[in-house]
Amino acid sequence: MTQTYDAIIIGAGISGAAIAYELSKKGYRTLNVDRLAAAGHGSTSNTCAIIRTHYSTLEGTAIAYDSYFSWKDWENYLDANDEKGLARFYQTGLVNVYHKGHDPSTHIKLHDVLGIPYEIWNPAKLLERMPHFVDDSFYPPKRPEDPLFDKPSEEKISDMVVYYPNDGYINDPVLSVHNVQRAAEAKGAAFLFNEEVVEIRKNDHRVVGVTLKSGKTIDAAVVVNAAGPHSAVVNRMAGVEKQMKIKTRPLRHEVHFVPSPDGFSYEKDGMVVGDADLGGYHRPETGNQVLVGSEDPLCDEREWIEDPDHFNHEVTSSQYQAQTYRLAKRIPDLRIPNTPRGIADLYDVTDDWIPIYDRSDLNGFYLAIGTSGNQYKNGPVIGLLLAEIIDACENGHDHDHNPVEVGLPNIDFRLNTGIFSRNRDVIEGSTFSVLG
Ligand SMILES: Cc1cc2nc3c(=O)[nH]c(=O)nc-3n(C[C@H](O)[C@H](O)[C@H](O)COP(=O)(O)OP(=O)(O)OC[C@H]3O[C@@H](n4cnc5c(N)ncnc54)[C@H](O)[C@@H]3O)c2cc1C
Repeated sequence: MTQTYDAIIIGAGISGAAIAYELSKKGYRTLNVDRLAAAGHGSTSNTCAIIRTHYSTLEGTAIAYDSYFSWKDWENYLDANDEKGLARFYQTGLVNVYHKGHDPSTHIKLHDVLGIPYEIWNPAKLLERMPHFVDDSFYPPKRPEDPLFDKPSEEKISDMVVYYPNDGYINDPVLSVHNVQRAAEAKGAAFLFNEEVVEIRKNDHRVVGVTLKSGKTIDAAVVVNAAGPHSAVVNRMAGVEKQMKIKTRPLRHEVHFVPSPDGFSYEKDGMVVGDADLGGYHRPETGNQVLVGSEDPLCDEREWIEDPDHFNHEVTSSQYQAQTYRLAKRIPDLRIPNTPRGIADLYDVTDDWIPIYDRSDLNGFYLAIGTSGNQYKNGPVIGLLLAEIIDACENGHDHDHNPVEVGLPNIDFRLNTGIFSRNRDVIEGSTFSVLG
């Protein structure tokens, strides 16, 4: 017998789980379907889980700041117990190091507009806080095979170093999604694992349900694409991709782990560091390690993936060396083991690296996609935006011509969701890359 729900959500990552939670709060009977064995086992499982507020648009900054309050008071946000315990937010602070000539004024202005705390440091203060650093500049970022890689630097980093005291990271992203699953279930949501959606069924320009690989059919008037790096595959299934002005595609990314340098404990004293001068970022990782990520500098070739089911899940020596050797410029005492350790996973990237939270041209089919390597932190607001857009559209609102506005719950900000439209022009102010 075909089961019926009010809404089927494809995916149980941070986006899908948060959408289920918010729709359930509104009284929708939801079902999340995920092809993997448990919640958060998709790309969310490999997120660096950095929580930060500096974004290049006011809306991006606002949703990150609003979500910060949910992470900070996670128990209250969830309003439910989880037998596995709760994920933890380590509010270590984040410092941004720049090369000379880089202008961080957009971030600062947006923080001023929203009243988000920050501090302007200088290199001396940076070295006081991070005594294992050097303040030399190595810009532009290079690969180790570049003959100039080892050339001693003559420049220093920018005199302007910006510190954001609210920022940090979540210790266990998979657990955090399990927490949201339990919160959603407490409001009536259902989750189905090890089942893949293989067909989006339609009737008369409207979605009517999905078919699973097992042959089972499930009906719903609302279906949400929260399929992460598989978003384009699911959009093609629904026949909506061609009509969208902004598209999504998977980009492979590596993150590496090295031991904390001698004389400085990242576990005890580390914080998140964005280093635009080096083209990378790093943060403390469990076991007194350093997690080393990349901000996609131009010298690193981007690895776009055609089929998200087929890509190299192993880290490569070449990228391990590029990212860790670059960090060793800032931290001369960094120890880099010969054997690479780390993870490789996919970002779901849009043309301007800004996500799509929207309806689609197929009535009842909605999009929470294109999270572009940086939207884990915004999970709580993603859930809210989709629930508001879905509820408005299902009640006859013309979201395409009059985008839904949402009052954010934790800060005084009314968000026009039109910025996340599938049919926007590419937002040129975007950085087209990310730091977590
Ligand atoms: C290496 C890396 C580092 C990152 N670092 C940060 C960071 O520091 N801070 C930050 O904020 N963000 C970061 N991100 C981005 C962040 O992780 C993602 O934006 C977020 O986790 C995406 O969540 P999601 O729920 O949309 O997708 P996913 O977690 O990928 O969930 C999608 C789910 O859909 C399921 N699915 C797909 N197709 C189907 C189908 N046909 N049927 C059933 N199920 C299906 C998948 O199994 C998967 O579980 C990073 C990402 C990566 C890869």
